[in-house]
This record gives sequence, structure tokens and C-alpha cells, in this order.
Amino acid sequence: MIPPDFIQQLLARVDIVDVVDKHVKLKKAGQNYSACCPFHNEKSPSFSVSPQKQFYHCFGCGAHGTAISFLMEYAGMGFRDSVRELAEGVGLTMPQEANSGESIERAREAASLNEVMSAARDFYRRELKNSPKAIEYFKGRGVSGEIAAKFGLGYAPDDWQGLKGAVEDYTAGALSECGLVIDNDEGRRYDRFRDRVMFPILDQRGNVIGFGGRMIGLSEKKSEPKYLNSPETPLFEKGRELYGLFQARRSIRDTQTTIVVEGYMDVVALAQNGVENAVATLGTATTPTHVQKLLRMADNLVFCFDGDKAGRKAAWRALEQSLPVIIDGKDIRFLFLPVEDDPDTFVRRLGKDAFMAELKNAKPLSTFLFDQLSSEVDANSDEGRARLLANAKPLIAQVSTQTAPALALMLRRRLADTVGLGAIEVERLIPMLVAGNAPSGYNNVSLNNGFRKPPRAPQETYRDGSLKPRQYAPGDKRANWDAKNRREPTLSAGAKKVAKLSPAEQLIVDMMLKPQLAGRFDFAADEIEESAIGAAYRVAQFIRDHDFEVNMGGVLEHFRHSVDESILDRLSKHPLITDDDMAARDVDADFDAALAKLHETALAVQKRAEIDRRAREMGLS
Ligand SMILES: [Zn+2]
Repeated sequence: MIPPDFIQQLLARVDIVDVVDKHVKLKKAGQNYSACCPFHNEKSPSFSVSPQKQFYHCFGCGAHGTAISFLMEYAGMGFRDSVRELAEGVGLTMPQEANSGESIERAREAASLNEVMSAARDFYRRELKNSPKAIEYFKGRGVSGEIAAKFGLGYAPDDWQGLKGAVEDYTAGALSECGLVIDNDEGRRYDRFRDRVMFPILDQRGNVIGFGGRMIGLSEKKSEPKYLNSPETPLFEKGRELYGLFQARRSIRDTQTTIVVEGYMDVVALAQNGVENAVATLGTATTPTHVQKLLRMADNLVFCFDGDKAGRKAAWRALEQSLPVIIDGKDIRFLFLPVEDDPDTFVRRLGKDAFMAELKNAKPLSTFLFDQLSSEVDANSDEGRARLLANAKPLIAQVSTQTAPALALMLRRRLADTVGLGAIEVERLIPMLVAGNAPSGYNNVSLNNGFRKPPRAPQETYRDGSLKPRQYAPGDKRANWDAKNRREPTLSAGAKKVAKLSPAEQLIVDMMLKPQLAGRFDFAADEIEESAIGAAYRVAQFIRDHDFEVNMGGVLEHFRHSVDESILDRLSKHPLITDDDMAARDVDADFDAALAKLHETALAVQKRAEIDRRAREMGLS
């Protein structure tokens, strides 16, 4: 582990503007710098770098982070390597590994889950060399020694406690914590993976965070699953990670295309045949997080699933998960192989060129969407088209009119053509600007800096409770405003949606913008683990410990890998921070108001508890 002090020392010397400018030419724009975003395709710049905050943010695709994150995302480097590169740039030397001088006992205690996982990987790799049937399995699928090494392929022996040979202490808690062993009710411990070929799953830094194991002695053990993955652990979150992403990064960047397949062997077989930009979801369905992560790395995303019924179902799910996160300028497609094939068998049988030719014919998301919807109804009848319209409505409404305004508009037009209605009638049914596509918890809130909302007409509901589109009389201010915005469905101030912050979240945002405010934070909340209040407390503490000499980038890096990482990450891209107009509000006043509110709530809770206690006592006496 790199000492946290070193990271702070480094960030105090590095300027994010220099770091980004080395890769992407920046232009001064007000107090910030801007450029066309390197993480998505665009013609006018929406990528902004702030020297004050030491933070970058893209208003188009949402990419954001510190100087360290930039190198990780842009250059595809690991965390350590990014830190090293920045350190070299400013003449700092990386400190030695933390545990070099520690006692053996402490070192054993500190042995991270990562180390246990890589010890297991090394063990499985050694075992592969000793297992003729596992070698036979991979050879039979055309896997070369080179590709086996690239993916760290291995074999878990047919042994209840095989890992005893891999780790110093088979009873260590770390082994169960990272899902390598199972403790049964009698207190006996045994290996989770036995007699399986093993596929290590790496995070973006190349650390082993999980395993996928495929059974190869099929006939004997019918009761066990053919595929087995590591359970969710502190290291491994299936909805975020993708198999093969670490190995595929460079090729994804070069080709600007990512292929998503279903199985480990699909990824390995494609790489073996020269298609190196494939990744697999990990026994779970595709999640919006997966899609977002991949869209940030490349402009084109192709889901390539089996041609059978299960494959089509998985593809449809992937489409549903993609709709809320799709961005204009990015292209999502779907490739269906012949029913008898999966990517593994297809590429081995017909080779790379045939696969690439198929890839060219992949269906655009919109085509797949309408093909599927049309196939479910009788499009020749009014009733069938009405049903198609009803089925399409919730799907199309999910496409963000902020980040994908062009696609949102085109899908509505296409729906209009398909059902034989006018574009305006369809837009009435799926309004472009009603907050229907905002994630829950998001609201139009008016802020004290005079952020204006257009006047609104009263809204009526249909009988099923869904909202009717608002009706505006001609000449009404809002009607004009709408008309103007519909011609130009790009972001305009009035259409912005701002997530409402809790008082604790407000405090965090304000302290990140203006670290001096941490001096006023006087709320005791150190025991509260995973909450905004706890996070606010820890942020204030951290800033004070560093004599207020930190910026937002420093705060974010300090809390990387901590329980507070996700809340700080979420808040760091909040408009109160990224939008300069809003950042110009009276931060001090907002901070004090939020702090007062927090105290008020705490007091109310205390009073309530007191009243309850008295009531109980009265009842008892
Ligand atoms: Zn972007």
C-alpha cells in the first residue's frame, strides 16, 4: 500500500492542468480549462478541468476525477503506476512497500486479501501444468501457452483442501473472506473450487479479485454447477466488474470498440483468434454500471450473445440496462450469432475475419428495440399498434434527454412512423422535458442563487396514476419556453435537474469547494459508519488534520477505497460543484444553514427519544 501521506504530498505538487494538457490540449475558459472530451466523441468542448479543485469533469459523458484518476482512465494505467508516473514527473520517489521492515507476525496480519488471491492464482497456474486433463481441455479449444499465461488460466485440483499447498495458514480468516474456502456447519473448512479449470478475474489495476471455475469432470458430479464464480466479497462486486477488461484495455482503446460476450471461454477464444477487445459479464446480467464503464472507454459497444432464446433474452436485458445511460455520440449494437453457435465456437470454426464481418452487421440499438417491439404485436391492427406504443413508452422515456437528446428525439420520431402517428402526438405521449427520466430522488429544486424554473401548468394524472403531459395554452410563457426547447433538445438551464442534497451532503459539497469551512464543522458523528453525516465528519477531520492545506482532489484521493468513496464520488459531480454559476453562490451561508439544520434534526431526535422514554416510564408507574 502507498502511504496516504505520500499521496497528499504528491497531489500538493502536481497540477492536474499540466497532467491533462500533456495528453489533451487544453484551452483557458474563465477560471477553468476546457477541451473536447477524450472519453467520448464530441465536436464542441464539454470537458472541463479546474485548477482550484484539482478535478476534471465532462458535462457530456460524466467522466470525472483527480489527476490520478485521469491517468488511470485515459492511459489505462493501474493506480500504483499512475501514482508513480505523477511522482516521477515532479521529482518524488515512490516510498518502499509498507511492510518491508515489519515483523513477520504483523506482516501476516496485514496480508491483504489481494495477496491471498494472487497466491491462489499462482497455485492454480502451477496445478494446471500437473493436470493432463485440464491441459487437454484448453488444448482441445485451441488455447496456446501464451494466451493461457496472458489470462493466468489454471486448474483447481480434485482435492478438498488443495489450497493448503498454496497458503501459509489454511485457517486464516482472509481465505473465507475472499471466498476461496467454505466453512461448513461442523466447522470443517474446504476449498470452494475443486476439479475445475480456473479463470482469474482481475480488477482494472490487474489485481486478482475473484475466480470463475468451469467443471471439467462432467460425468461424475452432476449435482454441482458447471460454472462457479467467487461470491461477492469485499474485493469483488459482480455488477461492476467485467472478465477480461484488464487484458482488453489497450485493444478497446485502439479499436474504440468493446465486445461484450457471456462466457470466459468466449473471451479467451476470441483473444486466441486475434480479437482482443472482448469482455464478459460475470455470471450476472449486464448492469448500467457495466455499460457506463465501457462507454467511457470506447465509442462503440457491441453485445454479442448466443443466437438461442437465452441469448436473445440476455440481449434484451442488456438493452434495457443501456437505455438510461446511453449518450449521444456513442453507438451500442447487438450481434446475434447463428443459433448453434456461441462466440467461442464461431471464431474457432470460421476465424477472425468471419467474426469481424458478423460484427459489421450488428444491429443498432434502435433497430433491435423496434424489431423486438414489433414482433410482439400485430402491427397491422390499430390495437396492435396501440399496444406497441404502450410497450415502447416506458423504454423510450428512459433515454436521457440531457445526455442523449438526439437519440431521444429520433426514437420518438421512429415510434411515430412505426405506429402511424405524427411526431408531435408521440412527443405529447412521451414528453421530452417532463422529469420522467430522472433517477428517483432527483428533483427540480430552486437554489438561492436565482436558478430559475419556468412557470409550470398544473399536471393531471391518468386513471392509472401516471402523469398526463402538461397542457399549455398558446401565449403561456411556459408554452413558448417548451417550444423553443423542443426545437433544440440540448441542455438548457431551465431543463437541468439537480439532485436535492441532505444537510450532511451539502456540508460535504461545501467543504470540498472551500476546505476552510471544515473549521466550523462541530457535529460529533465519528461512530456513524456508512452515512453522509459520518462522511462529513471524516472529511472535516481530514481537512483539519492537514491544516486546511488540501483541495478537492486531495480529499477524493484520501477517501479512495474507504467506506466514504462512493458518496464523495457521487457528490463530486454534483452541479453545485461542477457548474461554475452555482459554485458562485454564497457557500458560507449555505454551509451554516445546513449545519444548523443538522443540529436541529439531532435535537428533535433527542427530544423525541426523551418523550418516548417518559411515556414508557409513565406507562409503567
Ligand atoms: Zn465526455
